[in-house]
Order: sequence, then structure tokens, then C-alpha cells
Amino acid sequence: MKAIRVERLGPPDVMELQDVPAPTPGPGEVRIEVEAVGINFADVLSVAGEYLTRTRVPYTPGMEFAGIVESLGEGVTGVQVGQRVAALGGSGALARYSVVNAAGLIPVPENLSGAQAAAFPVSYFTAYHGLKTLGRGVEGEWVLVQAAAGALGTASIQLARAMGMHVIALASTDEKLALARDLGADVTILQDDPDRVQKVRDAAGGKGVPLILEVVGGKRFQESLDMAAPQGRIIVIGNASREQANLRPVELMKRNLTVTGLWLTSLMNDRAATMQAAQALAGLVGSGKVTPQVGPTYALADSARAFQDLLDRKTTGKVIIEP
Ligand code: NDP
Repeated sequence: MKAIRVERLGPPDVMELQDVPAPTPGPGEVRIEVEAVGINFADVLSVAGEYLTRTRVPYTPGMEFAGIVESLGEGVTGVQVGQRVAALGGSGALARYSVVNAAGLIPVPENLSGAQAAAFPVSYFTAYHGLKTLGRGVEGEWVLVQAAAGALGTASIQLARAMGMHVIALASTDEKLALARDLGADVTILQDDPDRVQKVRDAAGGKGVPLILEVVGGKRFQESLDMAAPQGRIIVIGNASREQANLRPVELMKRNLTVTGLWLTSLMNDRAATMQAAQALAGLVGSGKVTPQVGPTYALADSARAFQDLLDRKTTGKVIIEP
């Protein structure tokens, strides 16, 4: 079968299309015919060797995908051949077939396409935990969403609106801000607007924003502190700038700020939190209240271009690769 292989870490063009044997499902595993792979910023960082966990090469990237169950390993129950599922594995999705543990499969609401299903798990679970589990956002409260037109950003806007929150969206272009408004953002501000800090504070009533989903990092992290309201919660989710941030703890004291880290991979081990999120999200997606935003779609052979476009901030919604 065709698969993307990475033999040495580096920029996206280290990815190669190769012919490899199709994987066989072991006990408790299923083999899935991959329909669509959702590409996350984390995939780009993994190929570069800059992710939170060490990337071992050679490997096939791709952690989030949707497809049709093609065969079952020994002892698998509760999953049917022919069923559409989404899956969140560590890697291996950028291929015609991928094998994952049956316990990690996510049922797909019938109203979602394969691409929408692949766009769903990482962004929506992360947005849910950022806004609710860790962020403790409540109806009527303001939230700041950075990189608002991206995969996580679009999910965050929709979920925040569904929770009755008010959204301030930051993004790098007018087109991206227009998408954020279409999805329900109340206030949109260019991320390089020279007056962005004051504008954000004013939009939230003058005192700053009570909840911030921080995904850019670097020198922008200080700005998030400046944009926060007294007792504000800043949920650190990403570091898209790939720059080091400086945090002076005394600054948190002055305005009683809370900074909380969020990593979906480790949060998924919390079964109670995961089940709660899954139930809430299934309801919202099933009723059409939130719709995963499918962005540009690429063929498997164009995977390197897809990764580079994500890195170059050219994309909106979830980048999809169809093997
Ligand atoms: P996106 O689709 O949001 O794409 C990344 C976006 O980041 C870009 O479109 C761009 O938006 C913005 N950005 C800001 N500064 C830079 C920069 N210097 N270089 C590149 N991009 C920049 O990707 P994802 O939804 O996959 O991820 C968004 C962020 O959330 C990432 O930091 C990612 O690592 C993180 N994340 C973390 C998770 C976790 O478990 N902790 C889970 C999911 C995502 P713009 O042009 O508008 O600035």
C-alpha cells in the first residue's frame, strides 16, 4: 500500500511517499481503510522533532483520522466491519490502511462526512477541555480565541457560542476574521493590530478577558497576560510561534491570574473527563449545533505541501489529506 514515511526528522519535505506492506491487526486491534486524515500542528512538530514527545524514525505520521473498519483482530467486540469510525492514535494514519486499538475508536455521528469526522476529535476535545474542564467558562463570559480561523480556533468559537459565551477572535488576516465572524465571533481583531491589547481589553468591558485560550506563545504570551482580566484564567494549549516565552510568576500575583497547561494526550487518560466531553460533543455535533470545519484537502502524494501550508499559516479549518 502507499504510505508516507519519514526516515529523518526535519521540515515537511522530509516526508516521502513509499510502497509498504499493509499492517495486520493484532489482538484487540482493528484495521481501518483510511478515508481522511486530519492534520494538526502537532503532526508538523512531530516530523520536525519538536513535539512534546520524542519522534522515533522511521515512521508514518498522522494521528487523527476517519475511515471504514475493514478487518478485526482477535477478541474485538462491539465494532462492525463496514462501520465508519474516527480514531486518535499516535501515528500511522497517512496510509491506505491503519491499525489502531479498538478501545480508542470514536463512533462517528451519522450526519458527518469522512472528512468532517477526521476534523473532529483533536480540535473539539481540546476546545471543550480548554473552555470547560480546565477553563471553567460560563454562560455570558468573554473568551479570547487566538488563531481563530484554524482548526482549534474554529472549534473553540463554535463551542464557546454553544455554551453561551461571548467570543473575541484574533487572526492574521481579514479573510480569517471573516470566517471567525461567520462562526459566531462577537468581536474580531487583527493579531498584528498595533492597538490589539487595548482593543481586546475594551471589547471585554475594559477590565480584560476572564478566559484566554493561548496557542501562539513566545512574546505573545506576555500579551495574553496583559489582555487578561483580574483573576483571569489563561489556558496554555500551544506554541505556534515555536519561540520561547518568559513567565515572571510575580506578574500572576499582581492580578491573581491563573495559568493552566492543557495537553489533550494526557487528558485523554482521564476517563471521566473524556466520557463527559464525548457525551457533550456528540450531542452538539449530532444536533448540528457545531460543524467541524473542513479546510483545504490534499492527496496523499501532496502531504508535504499540506504540512507546509499549515506551517505557513495559509490554511483555515482542519487541513485534510485523503489517501
Ligand atoms: P491551526 O489550524 O490553528 O494552524 C495554526 C495557526 O496558528 C495558523 O493558522 C496561524 O493562524 C497561527 N499562528 C500564529 N503564529 C504562528 C506562527 N508564528 N507560525 C505558524 N502559525 C502561527 O492548527 P491547530 O488547530 O492544529 O493548532 C493550533 C494550536 O493549538 C497549535 O499551537 C497546536 O500545537 C495547539 N494544539 C494543542 C493541543 C494540545 O493538546 N495542547 C491540541 C490541539 C492543538 P493566524 O495566521 O491566524 O495567526
